[in-house]
Amino acid sequence: MCLLVFYTKIWYNNAVMKVSRRTVLKVSGFSVAAITMLPRVAFAGRNSVLSLRTGNQPNGKTRLVIETSARPSYDISYPQNQMVISLSNTAAGGESPKLASGTLVKNVNQIQIGDKLNVVVDLKRNIAPIDRSQVMILSPNGDNEYRLVFDFVAGSGGGGAETGTAAATKTQTKKYVVVIDAGHGGKDPGCIGKDGTKEKVVVLSVARKLKKELDAIGFKTYLTRSDDTFLKLADRAEIAEKRHADLFLSLHANANPSRETRGYSVYTLSEKASDEEAQKLAETENAVDKIGVTGFSEFSKEIRVALSSLQQRAVAELSEEYASDCASAMDSASIDRLPGPSIRHAPFAVLRSTVPGALIELGHLSNAKEEKLLKSDAHQNKLVRAIVKSVKNYNFDV
Ligand SMILES: [Zn+2]
Repeated sequence: MCLLVFYTKIWYNNAVMKVSRRTVLKVSGFSVAAITMLPRVAFAGRNSVLSLRTGNQPNGKTRLVIETSARPSYDISYPQNQMVISLSNTAAGGESPKLASGTLVKNVNQIQIGDKLNVVVDLKRNIAPIDRSQVMILSPNGDNEYRLVFDFVAGSGGGGAETGTAAATKTQTKKYVVVIDAGHGGKDPGCIGKDGTKEKVVVLSVARKLKKELDAIGFKTYLTRSDDTFLKLADRAEIAEKRHADLFLSLHANANPSRETRGYSVYTLSEKASDEEAQKLAETENAVDKIGVTGFSEFSKEIRVALSSLQQRAVAELSEEYASDCASAMDSASIDRLPGPSIRHAPFAVLRSTVPGALIELGHLSNAKEEKLLKSDAHQNKLVRAIVKSVKNYNFDV
């Protein structure tokens, strides 16, 4: 993300807000004395609320999302059966909250007190206080601006939540952006099978098919490369940033010294590899650019700043959600999985960005059976169908 564009965006949002912002002063859970203190004049803050929404997450979790025009700064308190999120230097705004059924949230109201905006959340049951380190602040992507995301469960000690709540309500009106990265290319063939099948050729073919299928069902997709060209790993990550992608998928095929080894595997970014194999794989994939597994120096300043912040954890969490959708879709399509954990982690350079995503090793070119499969149209289509399913299952609407 270019810093100039970033600041222009904030300035623009504030400018628009001052002329067109509607003031929402609904009241809930506050004494009459407090109500009379509410200012009558609309407050033009540095930040403003754009939308409020709730949804259901797995394991009985409720998700509350506050979308704001600039990066939010907040405090949180828990009066009886309420949660109050105080946003500093923020003005009320947005349409009425979109509340999904089956969550712990009864109602959400905005109360402006001076330059502070209290988002008052009326709860059906008391909740366990949310650990601040678990609150996500997401940067703008696709059609979304900044989002402050709270996940919580009923009770006072964490856990013990209701289960089996309704599925999250998804608004399919937005065009979500998916960047598909075909690994390797040009002078870098990636791995090569015994029959001479090149990784760069297989993954480009799958990437193109995947783009076609996702476009057909309403996603906005971009390929990092659409032909046989060499691209640096940092440039691939940068494309995802520039396109404000909601999801980044890097497609690869694997090789193993043991020709028996086969199966797909899914990886997310972590500075510490989940296992020795994952570490070796990251070293191989990173070797293309001679990027050390801990080196950030190749990356632009904006990305380095974002990666060193809270954002990194939020991105990791969303990536994990996607990776698990991906592994289940591959499993239910009966695509062989590399024995071991369904999701692995390693310091892949190409995943170092502020965009959630995963690196998918589609199979092993070093295995004769899989080499044959990977170059066949039928199997490539099978892989594409599974990935499309995983993208559809991923909760973009956070
Ligand atoms: Zn590769």
